[in-house]
Amino acid sequence: MLRDRLHSQKQIRHQHRSRTRAMFHEQAAPSTRYIAIIGNPNAGKTALFNALTGLRQKVANYPGVTVEKKEGKVIFGDGSSATLLDLPGTYSLTAHSPDEKIATDVLFGKATHTPRPDFVVCVVDASNLERNLYLVSQIIDHRTPLIIALNMIDVAEKSGMAVNPQRLSDELGVHVVATVANKGIGVHELKEAMHAPVTASPKARQWSLPKLVKEECDELQTILQDAHHLSEADSFHEAIQLLTSSSVLNSHNDRYAPEVLEHVKKDHERLDSFGIDRQSVFVESRYEWIKHVCEVSRKIKQQAEETTSDKIDKVLTHKVFGFVFFIALMAMMFQAIFSWANTPMNWIGDGITALGAQITTVMQPGDLRDLIVNGALAGVGAVVTFLPQIFFLFLFLGMLEDTGYMARAAFIMDRMMSKVGLHGKSFIPMLSSFACAIPGIMATRTIESRKDRLVTMLVSPLVSCSARLPVYALMIAAFIPQQKVLGVFSLPGLTLVSMYLLGLAAALTFAWLFKKTLLKGETPAFIMELPPYKLPSFKSVIMHTWERSYLFLQRAGTFILGVSIVLWFLATYPKITNATPAEQLQQSFAGQAGHLIEPVIKPLGFNWKIGIGLIGSILQREVFVSTMGTIYNIKDAKTGMANLSLREKMHNDADPHTGMPTFTILTAICLMVYYVLAMQCMSTVAVMHRETNGWKWPLFQIAYMTLLAYTGTFIVYRIGLLLMT
Ligand code: GDP
Ligand code: MG
Repeated sequence: MLRDRLHSQKQIRHQHRSRTRAMFHEQAAPSTRYIAIIGNPNAGKTALFNALTGLRQKVANYPGVTVEKKEGKVIFGDGSSATLLDLPGTYSLTAHSPDEKIATDVLFGKATHTPRPDFVVCVVDASNLERNLYLVSQIIDHRTPLIIALNMIDVAEKSGMAVNPQRLSDELGVHVVATVANKGIGVHELKEAMHAPVTASPKARQWSLPKLVKEECDELQTILQDAHHLSEADSFHEAIQLLTSSSVLNSHNDRYAPEVLEHVKKDHERLDSFGIDRQSVFVESRYEWIKHVCEVSRKIKQQAEETTSDKIDKVLTHKVFGFVFFIALMAMMFQAIFSWANTPMNWIGDGITALGAQITTVMQPGDLRDLIVNGALAGVGAVVTFLPQIFFLFLFLGMLEDTGYMARAAFIMDRMMSKVGLHGKSFIPMLSSFACAIPGIMATRTIESRKDRLVTMLVSPLVSCSARLPVYALMIAAFIPQQKVLGVFSLPGLTLVSMYLLGLAAALTFAWLFKKTLLKGETPAFIMELPPYKLPSFKSVIMHTWERSYLFLQRAGTFILGVSIVLWFLATYPKITNATPAEQLQQSFAGQAGHLIEPVIKPLGFNWKIGIGLIGSILQREVFVSTMGTIYNIKDAKTGMANLSLREKMHNDADPHTGMPTFTILTAICLMVYYVLAMQCMSTVAVMHRETNGWKWPLFQIAYMTLLAYTGTFIVYRIGLLLMT
């Protein structure tokens, strides 16, 4: 941290000095200028940065955030040089993710430790012209001097598109240089263009807004200029932000003068009363103009070569077959996770039992031994046993990602998503949510429409994440009989797939519901990109899988360990003399808490022991498994059942008075359904709070998911009871 700060201070001093020098030598060749490379993620910024600077680079972090700051020196033909900054990728200047905000702040001269660039090199991916020109259009409107590096022309060419740099240059009023950054093509020409004077484009605000919107926008711009002494360009940018934003009026806001906010309020009311979606009207109007620019400057060749990817896609993205394939693939995947993981899981389980037995023989009997064996080891061990399944889950997800199939899955789901009023872009966060809702929710940052983004964030945690897998797996292994279905599928495998499908169905249903009621709005059109298929890179898939598995183990070793120890205390104290282990558990603090909520969960078929698990796992879902591990170890420690596996102990457990088993097949199914639908994850709540900037949406999410989980489980339980009698 300190080093970073010192580093950036030195940098500022350095830049300061070079600026002063520039003033003394006004007539000399342009001296050290500050140039930023900006562009969409994956447009080739870093490749171009490397080609321009060679090894003359240094990397630091932007102060206060963990975003990498990469600067380098570019040396021109005459020996003069300029400082080049590689900005984080961004799709627009109005986005708010930390990465994207840095790009915008630097461009607008608002970043504290980075000077405002003299001009920018905007890297445009020629094979994704529309999306990339969106950012260009905003930069032009902001009247920032710029040059365009039209990159990836080889990729565009291959997919049958030829972009004419001269035409594009004429349309945009900007110098355009065609490049293939990773091969160094066009880099020399780009350097020459960077050496010559660079100006802002004369073509700012070429796109037209609907009359009503334009009037309001112009008026607001004038008010902003008067009240805040903003430039024409800045006031236009602010005016769009203010007209688009819904949150600016919600809270007390002293960034803007009262007369500005007053006016914004009236504007919102007026535009809303005309049914104008303030969010999308600006986006769509800009895209209209971009469409025109693309039509003029790009030729789509009639017969683009049909690549192998295209041939495969004919089948895999087929309306019917593609969908069938997708479902079949999911079924196979979960079946494989289940059966392949079985043997290594047994090894780990045996290892943990042996370790427990070893500790028991070497240590003196007493509370400490109890805490270690029945608290810590039983709790952590119960969760760690599921490592092989987690490993296979991430292995499969990684392979699907790396082959390019994930994008196809999003494409296939796009059809379904459009029925619920969202587009395929919203499915990508949902796919990430199979791993964990946190990256899923963060992936919604790419969704432009605020309402669509919220809808996606609200439903993403319904998609079954990896933390649910141990819960499902424990219940299935203990209670779902091993039976073949239709010859190829097994009942446990199918049960697991059903849980995943239930989560997906719930997510889609609620997306549709929210879109219809709370968060109505148009969904802007979206062009799905399908990267070519490739063989997965063994190394990157294994690395990814290893990282994820390691994270899982780390959580087991820290968080779950802590909770297990606390739970052991709660399940062991207060001590009651002459009580059987079962009575002891009943009377313990944990037992009392379980009994306390038993009336609430009884209608779902759950007793107080499951209650302990439910309470414990409010923080994190896997805790349910560690809780069961701990309480069953404590309970069965002194009986002859100590050496049974957790699933066997759960299977055998019955109420000593009534003889009723704690778990039946029906309870197991109900419990899984509950975990599919319930929001048992505090980290997700924290991320929702951060991403939505308040408590309203996370609280709403907890409320609706809890209600859904409760009613859903209740209905399943009632139907189950009916079927069983
Ligand atoms: P950034 O996210 O904008 O920094 O993009 P990168 O510079 O990391 O580039 C993304 C990927 O595209 C890398 O694998 C590059 O090697 C590759 N790449 C960059 N420019 C080109 C290009 O002009 N043609 C092709 N075919 N690949 C490119
Ligand atoms: Mg980069």
